[in-house]
Amino acid sequence: MKITVFFVLLLSYVLCACTSKDSSGTNPFKLTIIQMNDIYEISESNNGEGGLARVAYYIDSVKKESENVLVFHAGDFLNPSLIGTLKDSTGAKINGKQMVEVMNLLSLDAVAFGNHEFDLNEDVLQTRLNEMTFPMVSGNVAHVLDGNREGFKQNGKAISENLSWKFPNGTDTLVVGLGSVTLPYTQKDWITYGDVIKVANEQNVQLQATCDLVLFLTHVSRQEDKKLAATLSNVPLILGGHDHYHYIDTVGNTYVAKADANAKTLWRHDLVLNESTKEWVVNSTLIKMDMGVAQKESVAQVVAKWENFARENTGREGFSISTILFKSDKKMDATESVIRSEQTLVGDWMTAAMLWSTGNGDVALLNSGSIRYDDELPSRVSEADVLKALPFGGGLVVTEITGKELKEILAVGFSDNAGTGGYFQLGKVKLSGSDWMIGETKMIDSKVYKVVVTSYLSSGKEKGLSVLADYIWYAPAKVKNGLLENDMRKILIAYSRSDEFVNSRVFSE
Ligand SMILES: [Zn+2]
Repeated sequence: MKITVFFVLLLSYVLCACTSKDSSGTNPFKLTIIQMNDIYEISESNNGEGGLARVAYYIDSVKKESENVLVFHAGDFLNPSLIGTLKDSTGAKINGKQMVEVMNLLSLDAVAFGNHEFDLNEDVLQTRLNEMTFPMVSGNVAHVLDGNREGFKQNGKAISENLSWKFPNGTDTLVVGLGSVTLPYTQKDWITYGDVIKVANEQNVQLQATCDLVLFLTHVSRQEDKKLAATLSNVPLILGGHDHYHYIDTVGNTYVAKADANAKTLWRHDLVLNESTKEWVVNSTLIKMDMGVAQKESVAQVVAKWENFARENTGREGFSISTILFKSDKKMDATESVIRSEQTLVGDWMTAAMLWSTGNGDVALLNSGSIRYDDELPSRVSEADVLKALPFGGGLVVTEITGKELKEILAVGFSDNAGTGGYFQLGKVKLSGSDWMIGETKMIDSKVYKVVVTSYLSSGKEKGLSVLADYIWYAPAKVKNGLLENDMRKILIAYSRSDEFVNSRVFSE
């Protein structure tokens, strides 16, 4: 209901913008921009939304009716995805290769770096960059090679700090320039970032000198985009990424737009030049990529090839990725910013499965870094979602820990590690005021509790938790008695089919 209201508001907003400013009437120059951002999956969702074959069809249809069209992607596409976690016949991880292959078919005019592009290792990212037939653009991201700051390259050619295009406008030529910046989120010793605001302003000065229209393609937070918009003069539109929900902000004379993740929506921006005032009028329309939009056959075939690969590859390991496990009426948030700092329903579900595997465990601790979905789960959750959410797989282990020691471990995993992958999603244990509770009972220092964790946590490799390597760990009861295979993904799937899960009614109102 809320969404319907929002759509109506947007529509009226668009109509106002177009009737109040566009008054020239004599064939003004018009530029159409198709904007997408934060797309991790080449396929449509379980709900029939998104999918790059649909995006390709829409781009083609706009190009048929409009003369001047530019297609932009505001970053985040190489990771995470289910297919990206699989390995090919040579044993090499797919790591976004499927995404590049499909994006190469979209006639993209410019793509920004998102933080997730840098999840890949340095050499894998370089391979992906070389496979791209579309231009990346970045003003503030640079590669550190042998201690020197250099731009990233695609096939040996430096990636441009900004891009521009020339369009005929009557007897004249009109130049459109594009700057781009990315947030310094992923820190690695082979990447360096220039300051977002400073670099964008330098780019703007440079571009304004030679272009008739300057736009920005950004991958920063909503707040940072607003700050940026306030400093960039004469830029009518910033096309953003990073947030996963659609919106348009207005800051002075600048609009900032982001579409929904995984191409559930795209923005279509029609920019019309008012020849008398030299102002650009922006009409933005949110386009839903749902079953109402056809799929481009040639792209759908490539997507299907990868879907078959995923089905066969995971089938060999005993998974059936298109099988739906359950339907949720509630929001299942697995975005990194949320799951690494607060308890979520996704954490409840996973830790309940961990406890279930032990039969009678007291506490489950799950390091949130093992969950790599960075999006909301769809309302129909499939085995594919489980594989995507837990790309590392791995087993579970159990041990006995005293209340006193458990409190120290929780102080690290629940408090010190907040905001990082070492933050705990908790099962059956929670903080109530200043007391740790197990179920409805206060934790007792001298009592021994049965604790189940991921094998990764038990290795002591998590930040501040090396002490966990000192315990003696054993397999959960249902694994020991042969009921379950010790793989977190298989345990979660089996739990989601169990009577205990169905009776818990966690996901239904
Ligand atoms: Zn991002």
